[in-house]
Amino acid sequence: MLIPHDTRIALDTVVDLLNTAPESEPPGSGQPEGEPIDGLADIAALYDFAQRHRISGVGELHEKDLRAVQDVRTRFAAIFATDDAQIAAPLVNALIAAAGTTPQLSDHDGYDWHVHYFAPGASIADHLAADCGMALAFIVVAGEQERLRRCEAPDCRHAFVDLSRNRSRRYCSSRTCGNRLHVAAYRARRKEAAG
Ligand SMILES: [Zn+2]
Ligand SMILES: [Zn+2]
Repeated sequence: MLIPHDTRIALDTVVDLLNTAPESEPPGSGQPEGEPIDGLADIAALYDFAQRHRISGVGELHEKDLRAVQDVRTRFAAIFATDDAQIAAPLVNALIAAAGTTPQLSDHDGYDWHVHYFAPGASIADHLAADCGMALAFIVVAGEQERLRRCEAPDCRHAFVDLSRNRSRRYCSSRTCGNRLHVAAYRARRKEAAG
């Protein structure tokens, strides 16, 4: 599957956004009481997110931007949760329609020609809904929704996009969750052998 560079970047942004949601955190990873933390709990976190993903032209961010981005995050999660295009399509359509997209060719900052979907002056939530919504639309069109995954490690709910050739990726990260389960399986086998 050939995924254009910009779509790939937009998918990275969706994944990172989803992984700020408290429900993406393993139970007990948050405060001592075990309440999972929202990675987008305040406006400072939203500025951080915008900077991390080089979301340009978002201007000054307010409480209403934070709530709108959290709402978009919930909508992305619903799209991620289904492999069924019949379910995903209307969700993607509603998301994109609400964002008021204005496709524009751009070659800014030395990138090749690509299409920006967000309307000029769009709020950060509309910017995300338009560009990331179109990236998800691309995945639906390509029949590749199966690649939108959640980590299979028992105590991890992180979202990721499986870009492996044979769609075989199971963990959010081979370094953390994949390796952790590897070690656990190895220890279990040794214990059994020693038992
Ligand atoms: Zn661009
Ligand atoms: Zn994981």
